[in-house]
Parts: sequence; C-alpha cells; structure tokens
Amino acid sequence: MPTRERPVDACPGALQVHRAADGGVARIRLPGGRLTAGQLRTVLDAAAALGDGSVELTSRANLQIRGLAEGAEAGLGTRLAGAGLLPSATHERVRNIIATPLTGRAAGGLTDVRDLVRELDEALCARPELAGLPGRFLFTVDDGRSDVAWLDADVAALFVTPDTAAILLGGADVGLRTSDVVATVLACAEAFLTLRDDQWRIAELDGGPVRIAERLGADLVPGPLVGTQPPTNLSPLGLVDQLDGRVAVGAAVPLGWLNQSQGAALTAAGTALVITPWRGVVVTDLPVTEVDAVLTRLSGAGLLLDPREPGVGITACTGRPGCAKALADVRSDAATMLALGPAAALPVHWSGCARRCGRPRGRVLDVVATEDGYLVGADDRALPGDLAAERAAMRRIPS
Ligand code: SF4
Repeated sequence: MPTRERPVDACPGALQVHRAADGGVARIRLPGGRLTAGQLRTVLDAAAALGDGSVELTSRANLQIRGLAEGAEAGLGTRLAGAGLLPSATHERVRNIIATPLTGRAAGGLTDVRDLVRELDEALCARPELAGLPGRFLFTVDDGRSDVAWLDADVAALFVTPDTAAILLGGADVGLRTSDVVATVLACAEAFLTLRDDQWRIAELDGGPVRIAERLGADLVPGPLVGTQPPTNLSPLGLVDQLDGRVAVGAAVPLGWLNQSQGAALTAAGTALVITPWRGVVVTDLPVTEVDAVLTRLSGAGLLLDPREPGVGITACTGRPGCAKALADVRSDAATMLALGPAAALPVHWSGCARRCGRPRGRVLDVVATEDGYLVGADDRALPGDLAAERAAMRRIPS
C-alpha cells in the first residue's frame, strides 16, 4: 500500500485536459489503435471546432487535440461519447492498449487478438480499482509476430503458441504463461497497484516483475524465456494483402501531425482504420478494385506510402509554440530539413529540449534543441535522460 504522498498524475485524457502553452491538450485513447472513419471524422471536427484543427498521432497509437479553450473538454466529451470513443469516463486515461496493427488481417501472427483487445478493454473498464492506474501504464497485446511486445509496456501479452501468451512485466520475462490473457493481465495490473508506492511504471518498482508474478501465485515456466528484441518501426506502408482476399493500405503521417485534408482523405478511403504506434494509419478491408483510387487519394493529401520517401521515420515533439519548455520550433525546423533531402538510415526524432517527449523506442538519431543550436547524435537509450553525458558524442548544428 502507498506510504508516501504521490505527485499528481498529469497524464492528459479526453476529460482531464493538460494545459499547455498553446491551450488545452486532450488525449483520446484507442485500444488496439482501432477506429472507424466516422469516429475519425468526429475527432477531426472536434479539433476544427474546439482546437487548432490538427490531430496528433502519439507513440501509443492514440490521438491528441491541442489548442483547446478553457472548459472545452465538456463539449469534447459529449462529441466523443456520441461517437463511442468515450465508453468510460472513469477509466478513459487508463485504456492504454497497443496491439499488433494487422492482427487477424495479414499473415505473420499466431492468432487474431482483435476480440481479445476488446475484451481486455471492457474488463479493464469494469474494475473500479483499475481507474487508479497511472495514465502512462501501458498494456500491449502482440499476436506473436513480435511487433508491439517491446514498446515499453508495463504488461505485454506476447503469444508464443496460438493459445498461450508469455506475459512480460516491465519488459522482463519471468516465466509467466497463460491461456487466460485478460484475467492474468489485469491481475498483474492490480498487483502493481497494491505494490506501488510513488512509482508510475512496473520497471520503476524495485524487483517489480518478480514480486508481481509471486503475488499472482502462478506456476512459472523454467524456460526457455523470451529474449528482448530491439523495437523497430514496423508501420505498414503501401499495399498489404489481407488473408481474406481484400487489401489494406498503410500510410505514415508526416511528423505525426494529421491535418484536415489528410484526415478527409483517410475518412473517404475506407471505413475501418487502425492507428499504429509508429504514427501511421492503415486503411483496412478494401476491395482490390478500390486500391488505385485510395493510393492516389492518400498520396495526393501528402501522406507517405513508400518507406523511401523523405519523412518516413521522422518524428518531432510539440516544441514551440505549444510547449513552454521548448527551445525551438522543432516541427518547422524538421519540415525544412525534410524538404532538403532523403530519409536517414535511422529513425530521427526532433526534440525541443532534453526531455525528448514522444521519442520512439530503440535506436534513434536524436536532434535536440539547446540554447545555442541543435545537438545531433544516436544512442540506444530507451528513456529520455540527462544529455550531459552524451554531448561528447553529439554534433552541434545551428538552429
Ligand atoms: S521534449 Fe521538451 S520541448 Fe518537446 S514537448 Fe517535451 S518538454 Fe516540450
């Protein structure tokens, strides 16, 4: 049980809006990244009417609206609830569930986890105590292709057979296996709530993975354990053949900021959309006869369909003017650099300060604003930290 007073959880939601330099920021959770074209239209309309008009894609496959006026969250909540995007007012900030974007639709997985994600979301929202999870606590459900299991989840279900999942805790495999994923995953979350003091994440809890597994009283497999894998950008781009004979089209959103015309192209392209944790969108379940028109529509709106296009794999934090901590307008500077040349070999993340918000997991080329220009360098660190130790390895360029 908690023994110290915890700091306030400032993680934004759709109703608990974060006040930024450019107004309120609302985050809309999308378990599994799934939404319909009509739901995206609702979010786009809300952004136009209540915010600055654009919609941000986050590294957890959620959507954000910025520039909200004081009190706008009430109207936003009404719009989202009407579209089925706010099934629980009490749990809206804890519905952090990333799933394999193409599960059940394209080859590569051991099972189809779409129904499982829906069941997990419903069961999560049905347990009052789990409304107390930190807003950054993350679940991932990986259908066995290992695309989302390593995205810094607190509790990751990685299928190792069609019926059995390895449950990874804070990125560690302690031998927990289950065929009842929903019950086990939520039991782990409840155990974390019982064990935590002021920690936000399982990885911050001393001995957390083992203590949680012990608390469950489960039989742990002696091995072989699942080894960690470096996360990579696996967002589908261009045409993807589905198992049912239809096709999907994946697109990257430049810098993760969706404008109204790009949103309109997506809502016109198909009805079943999937947001990916790599700031992409997949339009699914398309008849083959519609593909050419969809490709033309998305490309014409400036969405990226080819991995060789400049802009693929390049992300940026909010920067100026939206963030008061920012030392540069990183989005504008990143867009300028994009216009100058081809994509880098590594994913690139532009940050307005050393916190490096929204940085993708894994090996990334960091471009970080400082008082006197940008520092550029690559490292394997998974978490933002003090840049001082890295400065020697970084190159300074003028802002
Ligand atoms: S990295 Fe710094 S400038 Fe960018 S959003 Fe985070 S706090 Fe703001």
